Amino acid sequence: MNPKLLVVDDTPENIDLLRQVLQAMDCKILVANSGERALDIIARNPPELVLLDVMMPGLDGFETCRRIKASPSTADIPVIFVTARQDDISQGFQAGGSDYIIKPINADEVLARVRHHLERLQLMNQLRALNEELETKVRERTARLAVANRQLREEVNERRFMQDRLRYLAEHDFITRVYNRNALDAHATEVIERIQRERGQAICLLLDIDHFRLVNETCGCIAGDEMLREVGEMVANTLDATDFLARLGGDRFAVVGDHRNRESGMALARLIQQQSEAFRFYWEGRQFELTLTIALVDIDEHVTSFDQLLMMADEVMYLAKRQGRKSIRCYDENTRDQTAHRSTMNWALTLVDALKLDQFQVHVQQIAPLAQPTDGHPGLKMEALVRLVGQAGGLLYPDAFIPAAERFHLISRIDRWVIQQVMQFLGREQSQLPSIQSVAVNLSAVSVREPDLTHFIAAQLERSGIDPRVIVFEITETENIVNVEATRQFMQTIKALGCRFALDDFGSGFASFNYLRELPFDLVKIDGVFIRDLDKSDTHESMVRSIVEIAAKMQVEVVAEFVEHQGIVDKLQQLGVHWAQGYYYHKPQLLSVKALSQMAASDLR
Ligand code: C2E
Ligand code: MG
Ligand code: MG
Repeated sequence: MNPKLLVVDDTPENIDLLRQVLQAMDCKILVANSGERALDIIARNPPELVLLDVMMPGLDGFETCRRIKASPSTADIPVIFVTARQDDISQGFQAGGSDYIIKPINADEVLARVRHHLERLQLMNQLRALNEELETKVRERTARLAVANRQLREEVNERRFMQDRLRYLAEHDFITRVYNRNALDAHATEVIERIQRERGQAICLLLDIDHFRLVNETCGCIAGDEMLREVGEMVANTLDATDFLARLGGDRFAVVGDHRNRESGMALARLIQQQSEAFRFYWEGRQFELTLTIALVDIDEHVTSFDQLLMMADEVMYLAKRQGRKSIRCYDENTRDQTAHRSTMNWALTLVDALKLDQFQVHVQQIAPLAQPTDGHPGLKMEALVRLVGQAGGLLYPDAFIPAAERFHLISRIDRWVIQQVMQFLGREQSQLPSIQSVAVNLSAVSVREPDLTHFIAAQLERSGIDPRVIVFEITETENIVNVEATRQFMQTIKALGCRFALDDFGSGFASFNYLRELPFDLVKIDGVFIRDLDKSDTHESMVRSIVEIAAKMQVEVVAEFVEHQGIVDKLQQLGVHWAQGYYYHKPQLLSVKALSQMAASDLR
């Protein structure tokens, strides 16, 4: 658009002259013969520039300029004074003028000054537009930032909530809400280390409910859980602020009494005994009495670890129970000798022989999908389970020999034997086997600690030539994973080869939730204890529900074991568990081509 110039002068000749000069420019020229006229035109049709004569009847040039500058809507219009008197110049600037031209006018000078002001005006306009654009952008960006900030805050809150919840679950027993074994381990270890450093005193009480099975068997496990909860509460009420109560699992609780000596430890044990005598458990019109057997161990400089402390408490408990229930017994010199671990020793000898004579077998149990596979044929999924062929040819099950194998460090040899058997079998029979999605192999946490297990696994994978993605290692929580960092490194190395990991017996173990958070597991297997009576126990149902929920957040798949009937299957499907394993689907059988073909042929739903 052409710029508009307003020429104001009371002498028509001057106007004509300026008009002629300005014709050289591409602009539209408006004229006014007085200040009043000029203001009128400017108000209706504001020009880009005003050329203003000073000496005029009525409003003179200065006053006209002042009025132009006084109105916000016209203040930005540049005014150039046209005057014959040098003296006017400074007064013109004071009135708000931008420039001046001296009469008689010089055409080149007029053009140069007008051009200069029009250009300046154009640049100012561009600058203003850019500024406005920038401000809009800043506003938009700020708005987006606010949204992002809010989302971030929500995420942080959610994560904090999850972490708090995970921490709570990691430290507490699900049923009784008192601390769990893992939390006790941490607390006791602290106390033991302090006593090692600075001396001092503490005691540990191990509490075992006598005949707890009675309640469980006559009223069911829901009653059992409720009774455990009430007993936990009853014991908690007898304690001082420095005592630390935890449930160890089953019907066992432990208290670490920091700063207590034998005497005040015994006093506490007697108080708990007293309270338990008054305690009654009511269930569906029935009434049960409670008796406890209590073992007391002094935590002094001879106790160097939590495991040792528990072993000592265990030995006292064993003697106390033999001596008659409902008693309190303390650890003393004789305790150790009386309980030489004869049976575990015998087991150790048997296992050493069995390893030498190759008396183990690998059995497999199929794992069924609970949802329709999206890809049609997912392939077989199974778990390898070790068995020992006994003297008479009967099978011995791992629950009988694995504790001894772990205690005497034979477990890693057994685990390696199983790994080798499974991989060699798969490699050798590859062509004859139906399609296999995965084979799970159990690994004790004790084996994982052995330094060269990674090399062993890598070598076996290479030798057998199988696809490593088929192998899932189930880390069993039969013993605490002591070195989480080393375990993570082990898992990462093996995962880099292509194998996956499952956290076995989830929920009952030492620190399941912690492990799930800290270690890169691909699967969790919920402990059968929670599955077996899932259709009857609300506590177990809510436990499974939280596991599924947390697993989903961590993008980990969930397997349920001990699935024994259709009622459980329905419940699991409803809760969103992905896989099921149990006698309802398949009983473990010897690993063979025939066994796998049979599995493939069976329709698992
Ligand atoms: P797990 O890994 O949790 O294995 C599942 C156990 O549950 C197996 O017992 C299986 O036979 C049993 N089971 C499966 N379905 C049902 C069911 O419906 N009801 C009931 N009541 N039980 C069912 P198994 O074979 O006696 O193994 C016991 C544990 O021994 C295993 O528990 C695992 O932790 C350990 N284990 C087995 N093989 C090995 C191995 O090669 N190395 C190591 N370190 N541990 C092993
Ligand atoms: Mg397992
Ligand atoms: Mg298991």
